[in-house]
Amino acid sequence: MSVHLSVVIPCYNEIEGLAALRERVTAACEAHAGGPWEVILVDDGSTDGTTESIRAAAADDPRYAGLILSRNHGHQIALTAGLHYAQGARILILDADLQDPPELLGDMMALMDDGADVVYGKRISRAGETLFKTASAALFYRFLNRLSEVPIPEDTGDFRLMSRRALDVLNAMPEQHRFIRGMVSWIGYRQVALEYHRDKRFAGETKYPLRKMLRLTVDALTSFSILPLRLASWLGLITAMLSVPLLIYVLISWIVGGTVQGWVSLTGIVVLFGGIQLIVVGIIGEYVGRMYMQSKNRPLFLVDSFDRQGEGPFRATSPAASPAVALAEGSSDHGHA
Ligand code: UDP
Ligand code: MG
Repeated sequence: MSVHLSVVIPCYNEIEGLAALRERVTAACEAHAGGPWEVILVDDGSTDGTTESIRAAAADDPRYAGLILSRNHGHQIALTAGLHYAQGARILILDADLQDPPELLGDMMALMDDGADVVYGKRISRAGETLFKTASAALFYRFLNRLSEVPIPEDTGDFRLMSRRALDVLNAMPEQHRFIRGMVSWIGYRQVALEYHRDKRFAGETKYPLRKMLRLTVDALTSFSILPLRLASWLGLITAMLSVPLLIYVLISWIVGGTVQGWVSLTGIVVLFGGIQLIVVGIIGEYVGRMYMQSKNRPLFLVDSFDRQGEGPFRATSPAASPAVALAEGSSDHGHA
């Protein structure tokens, strides 16, 4: 039985919205999948009963599977895990909070029938989000695009439909610090936008506090640009040029017997350049740290169990392409990975 459509949904403490999610996703798939479909609910180390709920859904409906991770790995990694387990010819990425309407599946499928490899949702409005979130997101995407070597569509989250060949490329990318919407842009092929209105969260509150948003921002910048590393060169060039007239002035005042004043300017210069140097070292550190983490080659995620009816133990296939995405499964019935 070949799966036409896989829906991958990372869930972190989403107990309140899960029943509604299931209902709407099931309806959307029944209407638009055009063949056998599966939904992979990824439990990203939830602590509020989401795990049990996901297991129950998998036990209750053969079309639902539960991928329980060993702990909280973060949204991008939870999504990565689910994508490795998806078997479908087309793959829909969805959030658990119903901000992105699953009913758009029909339009997305139609665009893919016309030959698109990726149909990404582009938000033309966002309900129920703070001004800070919309403003910072808008600023972030524009800034990122200036720096990034591949254009990354603005006002776009991870909500998208992907073809199998695009997903296979994504799954073969071994990077630890993942900014998936950017990685998908990098792949290329034919990518088209579908504009939509983003709803407010169905239930619960955002799982992206400022801290996580900042981390994703730095991951995105470092993953898609090395321009910040050139900051030191540019700052050095500018200060070197500025220092020429200053040096001439210093020489002249020495010749004409200028005084020994200058505590203020000297301190100012030391403080300013001390600050600039530390910032530049910090930026280099961001890159070096990521290289260090990557060089450890740890698995991207660990799976506690994959719950699905029928078919028996199921193992993801594609990660073998890269040792960095090796999987381990903890369930007792099929030993060590
Ligand atoms: N999420 C996750 N792990 C995390 C944080 C979030 O799997 O550590 C999931 C969350 O359950 C949701 C999706 O990622 O399905 C997006 O999170 P959220 O809706 O809180 O982000 P926002 O829409 O506020 O940016
Ligand atoms: Mg959300």
